[in-house]
Amino acid sequence: MYQLLFFTKDFRKVGFMYFYELHLHTAETSRCARSPAQDMVKEYADRGFSGIVVTDHFINGNSYAGEKNTWEEKMDAYLLGYQAAKKAGDAIGLDVFFGIEYTHMGGNGEDYLLLGLKPEHLYAELKDCDKWSIEYLCDVVHNLGGIVIRAHPYRVAGYIARPGIERPGLQIDAVEVFNAGNREDAFNLQAMEMAMREHKPWTAGSDTHHVSTVATAYVGFEHKPKDYAELCEFIRNGKAFTVYRPKIET
Ligand SMILES: [Zn+2]
Ligand SMILES: [Zn+2]
Repeated sequence: MYQLLFFTKDFRKVGFMYFYELHLHTAETSRCARSPAQDMVKEYADRGFSGIVVTDHFINGNSYAGEKNTWEEKMDAYLLGYQAAKKAGDAIGLDVFFGIEYTHMGGNGEDYLLLGLKPEHLYAELKDCDKWSIEYLCDVVHNLGGIVIRAHPYRVAGYIARPGIERPGLQIDAVEVFNAGNREDAFNLQAMEMAMREHKPWTAGSDTHHVSTVATAYVGFEHKPKDYAELCEFIRNGKAFTVYRPKIET
């Protein structure tokens, strides 16, 4: 269930694995991001990554798309970052997958990474999902073949009312135990404890908003997932190795 953990500055020392970024923002969609999708894609390709999942802030979070009027207009705006990344990835041979960082604004403000979905789902099955309960959202994402990862559960931030809030019975698939965007490593250690307590698989993500913070936490697989669905299955089955560059230089 729990994967080996590597502390390294240089992913190439880890050995032969297939590396994926699971938590990335683009300047096209996320208000707090500074680098355009194309630049992010190039950074990951240069580092030999196999792929990235674009997880821009959803319209209930720090996204430009929330300013638009209709649901369709909001979703068109929301997808700008992913679409730019996909185009750049296709051109240079980096797999780019669609994800969402969903902020539970109706409740506590904690974040979830939704993976394994298709952009088209936004216009149909996920319509108005910003107003759903987190329990219902999990059901719908699972029915669509996706997975739900609790993102940086112990982060202390102004928009999260109660960091580390427990959601007993919530059907999440994994916990992001290493988030390189967390201000303190203690938040990551607490997340790891949560995952072990709840018997959930681990993931890691850079939560990068700029090219200077790419590839600071990510996952590796021994076998290359044949598609996005298999990548999600590997995570669900605890096959993702977590890689993290701690703030202390080694
Ligand atoms: Zn952000
Ligand atoms: Zn994020």
